[in-house]
Amino acid sequence: MLQIKNIKKTYHTGNLIQKALDDVSLNLRDNEFVAILGPSGSGKTTLLNIIGGLDQYDDGDLIINGISTKNYTDKDWDSYRNHSVGFVFQSYNLIPHQTLLQNVELALTISGISKEERRKRAIEALDAVGLKEQMHKKPSQLSGGQMQRVSLARALVNNPDILLADEPTGALDTQTSHQVMDLLKDVVKDRLVVMVTHNPELADEYATRIVKVRDGKILNDSNPLTREETARLSDQPEHKNLGKTSMSFLTALSLSFNNLKTKKARTILTAFAGSIGIIGIALILSLSTGVNDYITSIEKETLSEYPIQIQKMTSSMMSMMISMMSDDQAPDGDYVEEFPTLNMMAGGKSSNDLKSFKSYLDSHQELLDPYVRSIEYKYSLTPQIFRYEDQDIYQVCPDPVTQAMFGSSGMVSSMLTSTSMAEMFQELPEDPNLYQSQYELKAGTWPKNANEAVLVLDSTGLMSDVLSYSLGLRSGKELDDVLKVLQSKDGGKLDVKKEHWTYDDILGRSFKVLSSSQFYEYDSKFKVWSDKKDNADFLKNAVDKGIDLKITGIASPAKGESVTMLTQGIYYTPELMDQLIKIAADSDVVKAQLKTPKINIMTRDEFGKKPKDSAFSNEDLFTVDEKAFAEAFRIDESKMNLDTSAFSDMNINPADLNLSGIMDFSSLAQALPAMNAETFNQIMNGAIKPVTEETMKEIFTNV
Ligand code: ADP
Ligand code: MG
Repeated sequence: MLQIKNIKKTYHTGNLIQKALDDVSLNLRDNEFVAILGPSGSGKTTLLNIIGGLDQYDDGDLIINGISTKNYTDKDWDSYRNHSVGFVFQSYNLIPHQTLLQNVELALTISGISKEERRKRAIEALDAVGLKEQMHKKPSQLSGGQMQRVSLARALVNNPDILLADEPTGALDTQTSHQVMDLLKDVVKDRLVVMVTHNPELADEYATRIVKVRDGKILNDSNPLTREETARLSDQPEHKNLGKTSMSFLTALSLSFNNLKTKKARTILTAFAGSIGIIGIALILSLSTGVNDYITSIEKETLSEYPIQIQKMTSSMMSMMISMMSDDQAPDGDYVEEFPTLNMMAGGKSSNDLKSFKSYLDSHQELLDPYVRSIEYKYSLTPQIFRYEDQDIYQVCPDPVTQAMFGSSGMVSSMLTSTSMAEMFQELPEDPNLYQSQYELKAGTWPKNANEAVLVLDSTGLMSDVLSYSLGLRSGKELDDVLKVLQSKDGGKLDVKKEHWTYDDILGRSFKVLSSSQFYEYDSKFKVWSDKKDNADFLKNAVDKGIDLKITGIASPAKGESVTMLTQGIYYTPELMDQLIKIAADSDVVKAQLKTPKINIMTRDEFGKKPKDSAFSNEDLFTVDEKAFAEAFRIDESKMNLDTSAFSDMNINPADLNLSGIMDFSSLAQALPAMNAETFNQIMNGAIKPVTEETMKEIFTNV
């Protein structure tokens, strides 16, 4: 139901003030064919454009499905326009050098739908308007009536609830007009069609309701809402404040899958994606009915943005989310019942033995190849990156701002680091084909070796001011002041003025990169290794010897690219990582530790006896927790030997691999028994439509 309430619209051109709509109110049914009739200049187009979100009203309200649009954000409008409304214009607005098929497909591009699905739907839409045979022609090879039918197909390909047509037959002769109108009439069956015309005969013949306008006012309405219908309207709760606060996460998502492209939604989602993976996103999205259509289209493209991630340690948000959504009732008795939060938090944790998993993947390359676009490895090694500013040394990675805000413990931090969304320095994928085509290089070159890095801007071509500190464009002294405020107990006001930088300011910015193993020195007096990072002279000496890193390029998402792989940040190459891993592996401190795997070389205590030094995490790279492995993979520990035969024991049958998509899910599912292979497959193939709480529990119970 669309409600137009006391809408006013005035155009100002120079000194001229033109009232286009003067207090217009109109309620439209979900399913009717409304003709808006009136002389030229009476405000018809303005009204239609406001209904379709193409133009903003000055005053009054447009209420869509009981929700006021007063607090709609640009994104809400985008989503409404892209998914709820189809437009047909008098002038067709087809793109001349593209085929009919491409023209119709284009309307789907914006919705983040896969190529094959787009093609399929576009052909169906062209078929519906009787132009399937001509789909490879260009618009110039068509008659006016045919072109209008193409634009009708384009308007309908998204299956919108509302179809808006502005003088669709204005340029057509009578006979062709009737053909187009017949098609329009077909369309109306299950949606609202609003057509602007100045042809009263056409309105009479086809519309179920005629609204006459003149001078921006409604003169006459042939079929207004009955008293009962109006009463039902006012029964409907009207959510007056659809503001940021009243819109739930799920509602926000359900507004459209398109929101995924926006930074904010992506930030939220990436956080979830990191811990629960792409399946989680599919589930979250499919919970809200509005997006089921799009679930079926989560394919390769989307996977490039939200790859399946398998982490050594994960804390799943899923059990939390399930509990948030469960409708456990408070008990009726005179007692207070507990809500089992702790079990859920513990249940969300799991660990995988990625070393063995990697050797399994490595030894089954040919088997995996047809199903995988790319497998990338990340190591839990945070490069220690510094920059010089005059005589001073500032550490820029790990990012000091994130550390100040979130500290280094707890779920938030693990969520942030696991998705690396908070880290300004990040690693490029090994395969440049995965991302380079999605970006436009604004200046310089893509990094080619360990000494080069690229600055990636966000989807709007901006970069956060936090990055300016990382890059040294803003001074370290200023950052110290900022951090003081961020860390202070009672908050405080910051007044960081917006700045802009030239490409030349940014290119050539340089850093020094160290492995954290380089902070440790043997103390022969106490016979322990100790962290000397806090010693200024030691640090300076170490940083001087670090690997040089320089910004050689600036990239931003290419125009029209809806799915991009990298979030904003400074990206270094996997080669840099390789060098750091080698430095760590070759370092005396790591060698010493490997020599006495049971004894903590920092404290000379036995591991496990006392809390180990959490500052040193490189051991993650070199030791295998057999018990954790057994738990993760549910294999009898006695049968365990850490080589690939552990996996052949699991009896993975290549014939089970029937996935149309991306990865070897059956064996993956076997490796992670919590995932049921069948369900996994169904989700990835889009076979599961509305996912119920039950299904979610089924899949994630053991994760
Ligand atoms: P119709 O579609 O019924 O011909 P419009 O809605 O296009 O009428 O226009 C209504 C009035 O608003 C007209 O007087 C027109 O000149 C004015 N108008 C419409 N759009 C604009 C605009 N973008 N800028 C200035 N005046 C406009
Ligand atoms: Mg007009």
